[in-house]
Amino acid sequence: MPYFPQWEVADLRYERQLLIPQIGQEGQEKLEKAKVTVIGAGGLGSPVLTYLVSAGVGKIQIVDCDVVSESNLNRQFLHHTGDVGRPKVLSAQEKLVSLNPDVALSTVNKRLNQENIEECIIGSDVVVDCVDNIETRVMVASACIQLNIPLVEGGVLGFYGYVIDIGRDYPCLSCLGYDKAKQKTPVPVLGVTAGVIGCMQANECIKLLLGIGEPLYGRMLNYDGLSGTWEEVKVEKAKNCAVHKNAETGKNGEFYWNGGK
Ligand SMILES: [Zn+2]
Repeated sequence: MPYFPQWEVADLRYERQLLIPQIGQEGQEKLEKAKVTVIGAGGLGSPVLTYLVSAGVGKIQIVDCDVVSESNLNRQFLHHTGDVGRPKVLSAQEKLVSLNPDVALSTVNKRLNQENIEECIIGSDVVVDCVDNIETRVMVASACIQLNIPLVEGGVLGFYGYVIDIGRDYPCLSCLGYDKAKQKTPVPVLGVTAGVIGCMQANECIKLLLGIGEPLYGRMLNYDGLSGTWEEVKVEKAKNCAVHKNAETGKNGEFYWNGGK
């Protein structure tokens, strides 16, 4: 008797995850019907895209407006030395198509702004934020809350990182005061740290798509690679959060972001 009699050969690629009771054939079909937008094809985007593509998420949109530079290569493993100077979306797409040709990959080689963000993320089941600047993070979170799209947010600094899920009924980055934070650039990052946090983001995205487990809504998971510890911090919606208020009132469909002023 064959060991896995219930699956067709076509499912061999996903054989090991089909064995997981919380996924199975039904979960796999959900993944295949899902659309995810990943914003940023860099240090976080590399593990996020790799694991979503290898898991068989049906439609994945990659958004990035940068070209590959040599300083990206310590962490952005979708890009190789020969890709320096090429658009990141093309370099990433090429590797990901080779990994799993069954996934429909689309690319947006544009800088996100107030005018194009709605068009870019609308219709996504989940958005995964893999950018490296606060302005874009807050704009993405604002748009996701307004459009009621679950958002997986992650960030890294040196050996430290965090991951949190954001939604209309849960705290956002502005609730936590991120819209007022000042950021020095370039951000110091060990490639491994981006890998750890990106893997956690991919895991959260898959949980949200499947409706399984306990998403990190209202729970910021902080990682310290030096001490080798994770700490969960419970966070709450701020009463006067402008992003949440604007999402409730609609404000002519504009996405709230005041440039940190
Ligand atoms: Zn908020």
